[in-house]
Amino acid sequence: MSGSLVIVGLGPGAPDYLTPSASRALADATDLIGYSVYLDRIPVTGAAQTRHATPNRVELDRSRHALQLAAAGRHVAVVSGGDPGVFAMAAAVFEAIEAGDPAWRALDIRVEPGVTAMLAAAAEVGAPLGGDFCAISLSDNLKSWATIEKRLNAAADGDFVIAFYNPASSARPHQIGLAFDLLRAKKAPDTVVLLVRNAKMPDVSVITTTLADVDPALVDMRTLVIVGASATRLLARDGKAPWVYTPRAERDKV
Ligand code: SAH
Repeated sequence: MSGSLVIVGLGPGAPDYLTPSASRALADATDLIGYSVYLDRIPVTGAAQTRHATPNRVELDRSRHALQLAAAGRHVAVVSGGDPGVFAMAAAVFEAIEAGDPAWRALDIRVEPGVTAMLAAAAEVGAPLGGDFCAISLSDNLKSWATIEKRLNAAADGDFVIAFYNPASSARPHQIGLAFDLLRAKKAPDTVVLLVRNAKMPDVSVITTTLADVDPALVDMRTLVIVGASATRLLARDGKAPWVYTPRAERDKV
């Protein structure tokens, strides 16, 4: 019997942001595998479906388990928040394939994209990613802090808008503060900073501030941080939070 494996992006949280294609992939699976927080977001359909909840941070074990089940003929869906290709499970599955049983390369494997956190966060405030931007994960579980510093400096030198994933956790509370310090040395104090927590979820919160004023203590692991480029600006509105956007056209600033 030939099995299959699909790596599914659940989007930022609210069910409306799950694509119809991803939704069908979840419904068709015999086995759902993922971090329990993400599995809990998927409604139980009543179909005969096995759920394999795993703790966070065991991505390679989870990937190998999924590949073994698919090789045994099951139809497996591995779930990720947001997009599975952005700091998430899709790359972990391909790492497991690269290092694993050569037979896994013949499996029917597919990736179902999802709305990633930086797009959901940007949509909460306007169009801050309207010009060139980059995404940096601040987690140093899988890379060194020296590498992160090098990329922060390059992003600042290039005047990119920067989207920070994994900006802080209880084990790493200080890194976003260090990142702001480093950027302050290169960017204007009035550079726009956005702290978007739980984007596209019912309890979303948005803080619009500046590099000079931002309080790193307000950033946690449910927050996506956006640091603007020099052109990123606010559009004031009466009685409402300003829109934030980055114009498409640029004069030579770099
Ligand atoms: N694959 C995911 C990202 C995984 S990294 C995606 O594409 O979105 C986890 C980080 O994503 C979190 O620490 C946080 O920075 C960000 N994140 C995920 N969902 C979010 C949401 N709804 N609102 C704000 N940030 C979110």
